[in-house]
Amino acid sequence: MGSQSIYTKENLLDSNEFRKQAHIMVDFIADYYENIEKYPVLSQVEPGYLQTVLPKSAPYCPEPIESILKDVQDYIVPGLTHWQSPNFFAYFPANGSIAGFLGEMLATGFNVVGFNWVSSPAASELESIVIDWLGQMLVLPKSFLFSGSGGGVIHGSSCEAILCTLLAARDLVLNTIGSDSIGKLVVYCSDQTHSAFQKASQIAGIHSRNFRAIKTTRSTSFALSPHLLRSTICSDIEDGLIPLYLCATVGTTSTAAVDPLGSLCNVTKDYGMWVHVDAAYAGSACICPEFHHFIDGVEGANSFSFNPHKLLFTMLDCCCLWVKDPNALIKSLSTSPEFLRNKATDSKQVVDYKDWQISLSRRFRAMKLWIVLRSYGVEKLRNVLRSNVALAKLFEELVATDNKFEIVAPRKFSLVCFRISPSAISKAKSSIIFNSKSETNKSYINEINNKLLESINSSGGLYMTPTVVEGVFVLRCAIGATLTQEAHVRMAWNVIKKHADVILNMHV
Ligand SMILES: *Cc1c(COP(=O)(O)O)cnc(C)c1O
Repeated sequence: MGSQSIYTKENLLDSNEFRKQAHIMVDFIADYYENIEKYPVLSQVEPGYLQTVLPKSAPYCPEPIESILKDVQDYIVPGLTHWQSPNFFAYFPANGSIAGFLGEMLATGFNVVGFNWVSSPAASELESIVIDWLGQMLVLPKSFLFSGSGGGVIHGSSCEAILCTLLAARDLVLNTIGSDSIGKLVVYCSDQTHSAFQKASQIAGIHSRNFRAIKTTRSTSFALSPHLLRSTICSDIEDGLIPLYLCATVGTTSTAAVDPLGSLCNVTKDYGMWVHVDAAYAGSACICPEFHHFIDGVEGANSFSFNPHKLLFTMLDCCCLWVKDPNALIKSLSTSPEFLRNKATDSKQVVDYKDWQISLSRRFRAMKLWIVLRSYGVEKLRNVLRSNVALAKLFEELVATDNKFEIVAPRKFSLVCFRISPSAISKAKSSIIFNSKSETNKSYINEINNKLLESINSSGGLYMTPTVVEGVFVLRCAIGATLTQEAHVRMAWNVIKKHADVILNMHV
């Protein structure tokens, strides 16, 4: 320490130093976007690769940002799967944008911890305002908005939104029947519902034998049948159980299937159940009037959530949740320790978002959503979402007009589900009799399609992920990464065809 006093504290937020280093960082990121197509989309590293190249312990002395960024380029970038690549067609997109980035930057820059109103009034108030804006863009009924009798909150993920609403529903019922009856509560979904719901049910203490994943079929486009829902509920009631909660989905993860909200809510209302609508992926598209009909019937639900961090350009993480009865949520999740007491809370005139979520501390996520909505405006956002759907239609046509392939589930948004067709495999296998209905041949068809996907992904040219529906292995082409243009979609199709030809010649 030399002659320096212990009181001479180093300033780790010096504004000049910040300016200098942050500019270097922005340049680094801009270069990354500029060069992103040069990298294999799916990272090709082996498990444990990073341990072999990084030091075994943290540096004792400071290192300059330039040498850190050099290591990022040399060691970290090869271990990235490039979600912002225009050739990323896996999972669902996590769209970046300049506005989303700047919003994230500003929120991080302020680094306020807005757990209640007084801890940062602007953070709470902006969140309530921006969530009403977005609710209006979705034409959600007034009963979900602050300007009506409901309200909304920004969570980090759909998993949290589902869990919190399930807790609210559970406690409403347990308050009347007594907490000893928790073993009687039953929750419902389809076999296409995201695994987030199963996890939420486990955490909420719903007995695993009371978790109903109702079967869907290809013939009904993998939508949950209101008829089957009713008969399942009825038989549970006969068994002395209590129907609690339905998690309906608009845009399932496997195939973007849409559950019929109106008819499902007609069933659940007879049993006083809570209905949550998980529109994590497809909610974004529903800001376009022509896709709004997919959430018709939402007025019968109790809560609705979707992830602007998927298709609405807000960067991770941002899940918007609207509830008709905020008090139900607050009753389950609020605590009031002495150290958080304040006049504003006591006045009951403010929203304390800590009571609408699991954690106490929270990021200023509303900032990025606000900047995204303002920077682009509703019209431009709609048009980009429309282009994604148009590009998916283009890809779908390319697949559908090639008889080596088939579409496995009808396309509704910008996800195309397809595979090499059994007839193409059967044709290539013409030397023997090939009945595509036999179990052996079904698994053979799956194996060929799995090989196709692996071969495409290991080429690095593009990245897609699979799903399995009714025992059928499916390739999912999820279009909508911010940088994806028509040329990338056509290129992807050419790569897929090339690999399929090789596989069909080699293995069949
Ligand atoms: C992506 C997705 C989820 C999970 O979202 P998280 O925010 O990662 O929890 C849930 N449901 C559906 C339909 C999804 O597409």
